[in-house]
Amino acid sequence: AKAQLFDKDNNPKVTFKDVAGLAGAKQEVEEIVSFLKNPSKYTELGGKIPKGALLVGPPGTGKTLLAKAVAGEANVPFFSLSGSDFVEMFVGVGASRVRDLFRQAKEKAPCIVFIDEIDAVGRARGKNANMNSNDERENTLNQLLTEMDGFGSNSGVIILAATNRADILDKALLRAGRFDRQIHVELPDLNERKEIFGVHLRPIKIDDSVDAELLARQTPGFSGADIANVCNEAALIAARNNKKFVQKEDFMNAVDRIVGGLEKRTTVMT
Ligand code: ATP
Repeated sequence: AKAQLFDKDNNPKVTFKDVAGLAGAKQEVEEIVSFLKNPSKYTELGGKIPKGALLVGPPGTGKTLLAKAVAGEANVPFFSLSGSDFVEMFVGVGASRVRDLFRQAKEKAPCIVFIDEIDAVGRARGKNANMNSNDERENTLNQLLTEMDGFGSNSGVIILAATNRADILDKALLRAGRFDRQIHVELPDLNERKEIFGVHLRPIKIDDSVDAELLARQTPGFSGADIANVCNEAALIAARNNKKFVQKEDFMNAVDRIVGGLEKRTTVMT
């Protein structure tokens, strides 16, 4: 299912109202939306629009969602690829994919290029035991650096990349004129979880027993992705029991199930 190495979504429908919480991060990307919508407002005064920003934070916190929302708000195309796609690639393919992606992006500018899991290609160089895959990864990384330097900062292409390990990234990526801005995307607090439940409860037929505030209290440590999962799981549990509405108990069962999954995840990690 990974045949497609980058996805181009010319009609992204995600907007800021789909992204709950993350007030600080949203405020920071607001500026990028403004650059994309009205670049001349900035460049006429001699300013240089930043080429990219790095979204940093734990898995499932909404980095991809936020990047899509930037494209959606600015109403521009969204190109994306994932660093992990390059890991198993034949020699030369990674670099040529990157070249291809940027060629298309430049044609369609203004637009967003999103690179998920950039750490998979952007790890500090020379720390991998497997020489072959390391060489190819470095080629890909070098191509990415070349592309970033190759287009003018006012070309209308803005690159957003996501990682949960900014600390292991090659310093070359973080240099001025590349990903010199970091935007932090953290796990949601109680109020943010309530907001995220608000978003994901919208499409679900619930009865009066379901309360976003209570659900938020029951889910400390959950990411936005975990919360989306709880809502979907609750709906499936209720359907399995032939209910007309999803009830509080279905959500509680779903939470238990997800907590079980989270515990497994932690056990594997430690
Ligand atoms: P990863 O690092 O694992 O790629 P990510 O930070 O990119 O994760 P997303 O892929 O954006 O996370 O989030 C997965 C899903 O979780 C989203 O599609 C959305 O349904 C839900 N979600 C995550 N964060 C939020 C949020 N802040 N508001 C609403 N939904 C969210």
